[in-house]
Amino acid sequence: MSTDDPIDRSGLRPRYWETTPLDKMTRKEWEALCDGCGKCCMNKLEDEDTGEVVLTRVACRLFDDTTCRCAQYDIRHQFVPECITLTARNLQGHLYWMPETCAYKLLNEGKPLYDWHPLISGDAQSVHDAGISMQSRTVPEFEVSDDDWEDHLIEEPGT
Ligand code: SF4
Ligand code: SF4
Repeated sequence: MSTDDPIDRSGLRPRYWETTPLDKMTRKEWEALCDGCGKCCMNKLEDEDTGEVVLTRVACRLFDDTTCRCAQYDIRHQFVPECITLTARNLQGHLYWMPETCAYKLLNEGKPLYDWHPLISGDAQSVHDAGISMQSRTVPEFEVSDDDWEDHLIEEPGT
């Protein structure tokens, strides 16, 4: 595995995600499923009538566009109390807004991980090289008023 992977993917059972249900994974196995795309850290807009959710490139105030990571992940709730901690128990309630390429969503649907997923490629950079992530594509939410988010709608990268 790449040494600069911000997520600890060391010592994991080989291809554990193919044999272990989401609700049976250890905390480390669960965390290692995140591909680091950053798409869930973007603000979304939901159509009140249809419930359709669209992605914007307006990033959460803690999102670091260069690393494509939360700048304060461990203490993020002090700054962004509404940030969701995804678990196997609450996953079903969040699937409607989650990115199509998100590993949690893919596995929940019985689909395989993509080749660019760091668990497959062995390299955290592969998600960026494949054009899936939000790295260097965002604007900070403190620069855009809520009313103008609809000017920043985007297609989900990689779909
Ligand atoms: S969308 Fe899914 S895979 Fe991408 S950063 Fe969020 S939790 Fe991780
Ligand atoms: S607080 Fe961090 S993890 Fe939560 S949405 Fe913002 S950048 Fe992402």
